[in-house]
Amino acid sequence: MSQQSGNQVWHNWSGAVSCEPHRYYEPTAETELQEIVARHAGERTIRVAGAGHSFSRVVPTDDVLLSLDSYTGVTAADSERQRATVKAGTRLHELNETLATHGLALANMGDVDRQTIAGALATGTHGTGSDLGVLATQALEIRLITAGGEIRTLTPDDGETFRAAQVSLGALGVVSEITLQLQDAYRLRERTWTAPLSEVLDRLDELRETHRHFEFFWFPHTETALVKTLDPTDDPPTSSVPFGVDERLENLAWGTLCRLSAVVPRASPRLARLAAGTLSDGETVGPSHEVFPTRRSVRFNETEYGVPASSGGAVVRSLQDHLTHNEQTVLFPIEFRYTRGDEIPLSPAYGRDSAFVAVHAYHRKPHRAYFDACEAIFEEHDGRPHWGKMHTVDPERLQSCYPEWDTFQTVRRSLDPDGAFLNKHLQRLFDP
Ligand SMILES: Cc1cc2nc3c(=O)[nH]c(=O)nc-3n(C[C@H](O)[C@H](O)[C@H](O)COP(=O)(O)OP(=O)(O)OC[C@H]3O[C@@H](n4cnc5c(N)ncnc54)[C@H](O)[C@@H]3O)c2cc1C
Repeated sequence: MSQQSGNQVWHNWSGAVSCEPHRYYEPTAETELQEIVARHAGERTIRVAGAGHSFSRVVPTDDVLLSLDSYTGVTAADSERQRATVKAGTRLHELNETLATHGLALANMGDVDRQTIAGALATGTHGTGSDLGVLATQALEIRLITAGGEIRTLTPDDGETFRAAQVSLGALGVVSEITLQLQDAYRLRERTWTAPLSEVLDRLDELRETHRHFEFFWFPHTETALVKTLDPTDDPPTSSVPFGVDERLENLAWGTLCRLSAVVPRASPRLARLAAGTLSDGETVGPSHEVFPTRRSVRFNETEYGVPASSGGAVVRSLQDHLTHNEQTVLFPIEFRYTRGDEIPLSPAYGRDSAFVAVHAYHRKPHRAYFDACEAIFEEHDGRPHWGKMHTVDPERLQSCYPEWDTFQTVRRSLDPDGAFLNKHLQRLFDP
């Protein structure tokens, strides 16, 4: 196993979160994971980094940090039962490539494929689709190394312990392997078109009911929304590389517009109108794992909340009202998606079909005041924060908006009574 002490600086994708752990490990085998936990639990905080794609402070620690970058790969794939077991550090794009060779695919994905499978599960990462749950709903088995050094293979038969482990923020222990429910490989047709925001909001129910995946991006200071739908198809793949929303934005020299808006923030409304005015319609067909992800080359920070699905439109209208009257420096579009409700205690979609609304800010622009105002709107609509996105929700409110908060806490205290896996951020949430 590779091990380093001191001077190993870790930072997240946006660059807003970093740490310099006392010890940094890159284990290559489960026995090594177990050894590291046994060596340090009880005296130091242990955290695992995935791909660093969380915007919140879920990963950083001054103590012991593990990267599972050398603990990757699919260990078993069963095409007939449509399932596969994968090591926790495997990135989604690597997983997808292997699954494709077995004729298998994930049922849903978010809009990038750079995360690790364990990291994506741990924060309740989701895609869009009102019949599809967060990625963690696809877990069939989770292998967990607990603070006591024990390896537990959790399945739905383990009841609340399994449900807690599905979205755990890494607070229950180190996940070493995950078995996933998959489906046969399939192709998707992506359609994108622009429409007035008011029309999209009036058609929300119809659009989410008639498409397997529906989402839209609204460009602040404009009436323009970019709508994106994905539906299964047997049509042959189109010859072009799948053409996602971000590739479009890149075509618009999105990075240049963002830099300009950082230098002259007041020009943002004009830049947003410029960006929105040059969007055009598109259609493409390809394998699902190539159509889902987009490339995100322009760095940003983000906050995102899940609200009851029926409140999604009202939240966007409130954001539109707020932005129009108060925020003249925002450029990034607002993203809107749907997710099916589930029974995972810490899933933001727990017990309710949800609309997820995400607010972004270019990484070189201040975001706090803007995100605070948006968080207040989300909270008015009974919102629950995405664990991997920036949020400032206090523990009392979390307790009241998660009906099974105590279930998670009971499992966490039984598996990790001394809080070996709690960094400062998690301590504030779970053990204030
Ligand atoms: C460009 C971009 C696009 C994104 N798009 C979406 C999207 O479409 N939908 C969405 O829902 N989210 C999205 N996210 C958020 C992202 O999916 C989540 O933050 C996800 O958790 C990141 O995974 P990661 O592998 O980078 O994990 P990290 O951010 O490194 O870690 C996340 C959590 O997982 C824990 N963890 C990781 N590995 C283990 C392990 N082996 N054992 C125990 N705990 C572990 C960490 O300790 C931490 O608590 C996006 C983020 C970015 C930067």
